[in-house]
Order: sequence, then C-alpha cells, then structure tokens
Amino acid sequence: MAKYKSIYTKAVHAGVEPEEVTGAIMTPIYQTSTFVQQSPGVHKGWDYTRGGNPTRDALEESFAALEGAEHGLAFSSGLAAVQAVIQTLKPKDHVLVCDDVYGGTGRLFRKLFAKFGIDFDFVDMTDIPAFETKFKKETALVWVESPTNPLLKVIDIRKMSELAKKNNALLAVDNTFASPVFQSPLELGADLVMHSTTKYIGGHSDIVGGALMLSDEKLYEELKFVQFAAGAVTGPMESWLLLRSVKTLAIRMERHQKNALKVAKFLESSDFVEEVFYPGLESHPQHELAKSQMSGFSGIVSFNLKGNFDDVCKFCKGLKLIALAESLGGVESLINHPEQMTHASVPEALRKELGIGPNLLRLSVGIEDADELIADLENAFKSI
Ligand code: PLP
Repeated sequence: MAKYKSIYTKAVHAGVEPEEVTGAIMTPIYQTSTFVQQSPGVHKGWDYTRGGNPTRDALEESFAALEGAEHGLAFSSGLAAVQAVIQTLKPKDHVLVCDDVYGGTGRLFRKLFAKFGIDFDFVDMTDIPAFETKFKKETALVWVESPTNPLLKVIDIRKMSELAKKNNALLAVDNTFASPVFQSPLELGADLVMHSTTKYIGGHSDIVGGALMLSDEKLYEELKFVQFAAGAVTGPMESWLLLRSVKTLAIRMERHQKNALKVAKFLESSDFVEEVFYPGLESHPQHELAKSQMSGFSGIVSFNLKGNFDDVCKFCKGLKLIALAESLGGVESLINHPEQMTHASVPEALRKELGIGPNLLRLSVGIEDADELIADLENAFKSI
C-alpha cells in the first residue's frame, strides 16, 4: 500500500489504483457474489463476497489509510462494526463504556449482549479519578466515544489509553463525530477505531455502513474472522459509493466545521437558547482538551432551547431549510431531538442524569451557506 502523509491525499488516493485490464481510474464495482475457481480451492484471491470482494478490499485499504492503521474492515452498519468488537469477547468479560454513548450502542450493549453474560458499566469518563476505580480484573475493553453523542463531551483519549494499558484492557474509540480528518485515536494510544460510515465518511445521507481500523495483527485476524463468519459486510455497490465519498471527506469536513462554529456562536448569542454544546467554543468545559487531541471541532452542535417541549416542536416546525431527521454528517443540515428520537432507548433515569431532556436539540451542520442556515434558525425562533 502506498503511504501518503496528508489526509487530503489519502482521501483521494489511498486504496485506489487504476484497474489493470482497462486502466479505469476508478475502482470498478465488482457486483458479484462468487468467483470462478481454476480447480477446487485454486482461485485469484477471492472466492465468495462475504469473505472478500475487490471493491470492498479497496475501501478497506482506504479506511485503514484514513486512520493511519495497518488494517481496515468494512461492515454493513456502524452497529455491525460495534457488534463485531463485542463478539471477540467472552461471557463474564467486563466493558467500561462512556455514559453519553450513542443510544443505539447503549441499546446493543444493554439489551443484546448483556444477556450473553458480558458485563457493561456506563461511566462518566470526564471524571478520571472516579473512572479509575471502575476497573475490575475482568475488564477487557474500554469503549469511548469522543466527542460524545449528543452532549459533545470530550474524553481524554491519551489518559484512557494509559489506564486501559495499565489494566490490560483494549481501548476502542468511536470516532464518528470527529471523523478521521480531525482526530486520530490510534496516534493518541487507542487500539481500535470505529466509525459509523453512515455519517461523515458516507457524507450524503444515502448509505448505512460501518468501519473498524486497527494495526494489531492478532486482533485484526479475530475481527476479520467475525466479519467473515457473521457476515455483516458492506456490499460491492455501497463499497464503491463509500470510496467515492471518501475522496471529498477532507474538504467537506473543513466546511462542516467552519459552518458549525459560526452557527454555534450565533446560538450562543441568541436569547432563545439556554446553553450550547460545541467543543470549538471557548465556553465548552473541555475546549482545551479538545484542542490538544483534535485538529478541528467537526460539525455537530447541540443546544438547549428555552421554553417547554411545545416550543421545541414549534421551533422544529418553523425550520424550512434544516430538516428534522435522525442521523448526521451529511452535506445537508439536519436537526434531531435526542430524547424522542436517537436516544429514546436510553433508560429515562440516565437520560435525566445526563441532561438529555425535552429541550435538547442536536444540529448536524451541513455544507450549505452558513448565513442561510442562521437565517433559517432565526426565522424558526419567531414561530415559538
Ligand atoms: N456511533 C455513533 C456516534 C452514531 O452516531 C451512530 C449512529 O447514529 C452509530 C455509532 C451507529 O451507526 P449506524 O447507524 O451506522 O449503525
């Protein structure tokens, strides 16, 4: 694999070589489930698409390059990638998970894997002394999301890596919100990076996918086996679309973050807003930490609107450009109500404790004109 230094060059070139037969500059879509063998067991490197497909191979190489990893694995969704990691564990293993984790990740751990005897503890990882006391001898994995969904807490990845190593546990980081452009968890000491490629990597709200990136050979072999044995793979067409998306990832992220900072500052100055959560704001409690481990603050801004739930609904209805929808990271701006939508499965008591209440909104700032987005927000405030 050619090694490129800059994320801009990696995004355009990594994993993609002109096709040998025709010279096509773009990787073809090998839309096939199987491959003809020369004699039993003798083939050109691919036998069945669940195990491997040339379009997916190119994508996995591109994924690895984006995170500075030796290996990449492409899954059919972000949660399928998370699931693969947990499927390398065994009953009685203990996992420390950050409390403000994406609702679906929490649901997968609490409702699905807990019944197979894996023990999950949801903890506040911003309180390091308290967090340190949670390790057990069975702790096999620390699962971090940073910045977190939906409250944009920033977790100290270097510190988590130090503590995980001290306790013989692996550190996995869900890097979906930051994207590989603004944060490199492997460089900060993580063992494993996960992405919902549905979000920034896909970037166009038309794909559901997931990725794992890592360098450890043994762990890679284990995860590759899970991917092959359980079969939650990215298909050839989706792999190709993702390869296409990756090419513009770095420039999209620049624009997302420029717009997000402008929108966050506008919201902070608005009389209709109680509180804004964006790691790029100086008012964010972990702004300095964010600066020390991220090269940019990405495009997600959460905020608490003043008033009651009725006002929140009126505000959402008043938006004409920004769409009310789950998901994030696409070129178009979306707004989400975590309590009723993405985080409805988080136990109510925990939601309350975390501050995911009726007034919280999560905005995925797209790449439109920032002033038009602000005008849309201003206009919607008038409908309250
Ligand atoms: N991780 C984060 C931070 C997410 O926001 C999401 C989805 O919203 C996921 C994981 C799950 O990804 P997917 O929806 O692709 O399964």
